[in-house]
Amino acid sequence: MQISAYQQEQHEAISLATTHLDTLAPDRIETLKTAFHEYLMFRDEVDAFLNTYFASTCTQKCFQSSLSACCSREGIITFFADIVINTLLSTSDERKLLLTALQKPNAGPKCVYLGPQGCLWRIKPIVCQMFLCDAAMERIFSDHPLAESAWNVLKNREKQFTWPDKKILFDDLEAFFINAGYSSSLMYLHNSPGLLLVKKRAGL
Ligand code: SF4
Repeated sequence: MQISAYQQEQHEAISLATTHLDTLAPDRIETLKTAFHEYLMFRDEVDAFLNTYFASTCTQKCFQSSLSACCSREGIITFFADIVINTLLSTSDERKLLLTALQKPNAGPKCVYLGPQGCLWRIKPIVCQMFLCDAAMERIFSDHPLAESAWNVLKNREKQFTWPDKKILFDDLEAFFINAGYSSSLMYLHNSPGLLLVKKRAGL
């Protein structure tokens, strides 16, 4: 059994990011990390929200029952910026774990990155972070209407980093690698027709 095209694409992108990041001087690494400091604060806020409202429901209904619906696809969409941020914040052992998972054929219906202890990413992809299944939302938001408003605020704030109708972090991180001569099919801010149209309409 061979690895899938998804695994190959992911492996190439992580390897590419690692290769370039490993050539950068410490001061350039620090500059990059500073660029996404605000994003990490946002991610902490989302984590706090999910822990407050969803942790027990998701653990009980999903993970313990092995349903784990949010990780049950073979692979999830990852932006190149997801990979850059995760690579920069991961140890070399954590990077190797991802690459090893991508080199093994994935026989099951679960995400290739789902390990026995959960997701193998240190900072999981933004699509995963912001996914809540309908059943969980119905259950929690009917009991906590204010939580629904808070979630909608967080969903809007996500766009400050990922939606290219203005200058955004995810676009900038791709550009940083493109300017250094690298290219990846996961650079959606630079190769997705839909996102390019959003940029064009915004005059970017
Ligand atoms: S990347 Fe991680 S959080 Fe996202 S679907 Fe895969 S295992 Fe789940």
